[in-house]
Amino acid sequence: MNFSKLDAYSIVLTHPLAEGIRRVGFRKWHERELMAGHVHLVLALLSLLALLASFEAFDGAAPLGKLLDVLFVLVCAAISLWALRRYLFLLGYAEAMASQATCKACGEYGRLEVVSEDRPQRLTGVCCRKCAHRWAIES
Ligand SMILES: [Zn+2]
Repeated sequence: MNFSKLDAYSIVLTHPLAEGIRRVGFRKWHERELMAGHVHLVLALLSLLALLASFEAFDGAAPLGKLLDVLFVLVCAAISLWALRRYLFLLGYAEAMASQATCKACGEYGRLEVVSEDRPQRLTGVCCRKCAHRWAIES
């Protein structure tokens, strides 16, 4: 089994910008951020459906069943809110990074190399692969 290839394709969860660019390039990183965001949207919708089903089951249930329904409603609401919040964060973050990924010197979009990383300042120094222009992306 080729572990380096597996490693490149196994990015299911999101990665910080610099690590993502180093591993798969900016465009793939951006695409995966958007996909992860939409997976969270699907999770939010599914948990919302489960929440509605719990409300529906509440009417004819025995007292213990009603207690379980209330518990299930609370769990589904928490999951739905968390997933919706995560969806909005991932989409906003991907959009903010994409708006800074165009080279101001040549206009090339998303063909970047990481040249430096300043985590406390949340700056990622990048270099255009086409013209070698350098700038910093603020995350
Ligand atoms: Zn350029």
